[in-house]
Amino acid sequence: MERKSLIIANWKMNGNILLIEQMIQALSPLQMDSNTDVVICPSTPYLSTFNDVTKKANLSGKISLGAQNVSEHESGAFSGETSATMLKEFKVKYVLVGHSERRQIYNETTELTAKKVKAILNAGLTPILCIGETEAERMAEQTQAVLTAQLQPVINEIGITKLAEVVIAYEPIWAIGTGKTASSEMAQETHQFIRQFLANINTDVAQQVPLIYGGSVNTTNCEQLFAQTDIDGGLIGGASLKVDEFIVICSAA
Ligand code: PEP
Repeated sequence: MERKSLIIANWKMNGNILLIEQMIQALSPLQMDSNTDVVICPSTPYLSTFNDVTKKANLSGKISLGAQNVSEHESGAFSGETSATMLKEFKVKYVLVGHSERRQIYNETTELTAKKVKAILNAGLTPILCIGETEAERMAEQTQAVLTAQLQPVINEIGITKLAEVVIAYEPIWAIGTGKTASSEMAQETHQFIRQFLANINTDVAQQVPLIYGGSVNTTNCEQLFAQTDIDGGLIGGASLKVDEFIVICSAA
């Protein structure tokens, strides 16, 4: 079975109703391969707007909706939180989890990330699990150890078979929002390591899991990155806020 490709826009705490309208209008004529999903992850208040705009443009289902965060709990006294079931009611298909901003700014641990992955799967949604090393960790040749330490607790929590339903986004932290992209060779090498790590546990799962790259992907480097054997698409931050650039990146996929 051919692996799915994904181009995922992480708008972070940016964007507005107008950007959703402009982006949907620009994406509308794009002919994507049936095996490639384009996903927009706006801030939570805009989930409903996204559905209204895509419906009006007759594009419901053609462009997928993603959320940027979720609670590990199903319901209860957790003010300010949103459950995976609530996201599902708003036709969310994908949920980002373990983004370095959540890990670093909001002190989310790998154990909490693993619980969130489980909650997302329990609701029937697809987690986009972000993993990646800092610059210091890469310099100290700790990349593989860091990625292993971020993946193993998730596998322990959900079991290896369920990992086939997860998308893994390799995002070297030093490349996020910095303009410093990993070279396509470096990204491929790390993706290959991740796939091999999974293959040592279960070869079928390793073949099925989409591994996407994130970190300063732009119109110049996207084609080469997406051409790598083990890179199944991209998680795009800054460039996904610029309609023209995001269209070029989607076309490269
Ligand atoms: C991200 O935030 O996930 C990201 C990849 O950002 P950027 O593309 O801006 O580096």
